[in-house]
Amino acid sequence: MQTPELSPYWMPFTANRQYKSQPRLLERAKDMHYYDQSGRAVLDGTAGLWCCNAGHNRSAITQAIQSQADTLDYAPSFQMGHPLAFEAAKRLVDMAPDNLTHAFFANSGSEAVDSAMKIALAYHAVNGQPQRTRFIGRHGGYHGVGFGGISVGGLVNNRRQFGHGLSGVDHLPSLKDPKLAFTKGQSNEGADKADHLIELIGLHGADTIAAVIVEPVQGSAGVIVPPEGYLQRLREHCDAHGILLILDEVITGFGRLGAPFAAQRFDVRADLITCAKGLTSGTVPMGAVLVDQKVHDTMVNGAPEGQIELFHGYTYSGHPLAAASAIATLELYQHENLFDRARELEGYWESALHSLRELDDGIVDIRNLGLMGAVEFEPSGGTRAYRIFENAFFEQDLLVRASGDFIVMSPPLILTKADIDQIVTRLGKAIQACR
Ligand code: PMP
Repeated sequence: MQTPELSPYWMPFTANRQYKSQPRLLERAKDMHYYDQSGRAVLDGTAGLWCCNAGHNRSAITQAIQSQADTLDYAPSFQMGHPLAFEAAKRLVDMAPDNLTHAFFANSGSEAVDSAMKIALAYHAVNGQPQRTRFIGRHGGYHGVGFGGISVGGLVNNRRQFGHGLSGVDHLPSLKDPKLAFTKGQSNEGADKADHLIELIGLHGADTIAAVIVEPVQGSAGVIVPPEGYLQRLREHCDAHGILLILDEVITGFGRLGAPFAAQRFDVRADLITCAKGLTSGTVPMGAVLVDQKVHDTMVNGAPEGQIELFHGYTYSGHPLAAASAIATLELYQHENLFDRARELEGYWESALHSLRELDDGIVDIRNLGLMGAVEFEPSGGTRAYRIFENAFFEQDLLVRASGDFIVMSPPLILTKADIDQIVTRLGKAIQACR
């Protein structure tokens, strides 16, 4: 291999010079572990990038992909089909909340988000309200890297590098609250923060707003868990004002919170759900938008017979390899009851994670829900969390993620209590090594 510092590979979301001076390369993976070039096993505390929910290189999935590659490599996705895309949509919708009756395929979370935003606009236009073009996101929200996603997203770095994005976008305030530090799971205070939506409605006029988009639990912002009742209250405000609610479940989908989707865990109705990652357990890129029956039917019935209802799609929407993987992955989740397993392990995960609190005065918060967790450190411009991540990888054989001043975790749902003990012990050692 070419020495990394000379490599032409411009890595995404990476400090390339820093990385290339001390590269971390993963060569193989199986179940809960990655293996580097020397054969060293690294325990995966993050399911790759929140995506390998079934664990790594599961033969039921990899064989389905291999056999599909030998059967049909590609079929045009516009005005043509192949059976697996239909089958994958059916399986996906079967595990989704009842009101979500259709699936639109994309190839990533970012594409799913932009697709959902376009569906929201197109729906209102067909429904006689073409002036509903505004979107409301939330501070700290991450919705991928398309121009739609970065506009509704709440990260200042996007605005610094790429400008103001779409016009007509506003944001709800963050749910992060230092008063709630070390809350286990959901807090029972703060549902009224959803009422900020009323202020934004007052400012912009309800009939200009197409949709509100939020991550049910903010992942990239450091596992920010909504207070009990918050999402239901957002829903009520949306209903009262004809606004669609988009739940971005790219991370929370597929069992991360112990149910197929967070919408089910929190018992809140979404008009559109975006998903990706766990849909194929990270094996083949695929994203999807799950669409409410009324939204779908309004659009399909609103177009004259023979006309395209949604002027949108990707060359690789419902790609045969991705569809084969999705079918096998969803089957595996069900066969191994992995979502129930996540729910059963949640209490153990929570106690183990919160035991880290005693370890170090520099820990200012620990947050968790389902099999998601974050440990937050005193502000250091992210340097301490990054050192902990590096120490965990090189010295403790553990993969976690550093983002800002916190470490986030989202292990594969196949993990055991012994794996949880290992993750927490090793992370504790890395924290102590990097004071
Ligand atoms: N939405 C959310 C909530 C995400 O966490 C992510 C990725 N982490 C995305 C969208 C974008 O997904 P992708 O990187 O597949 O485009």
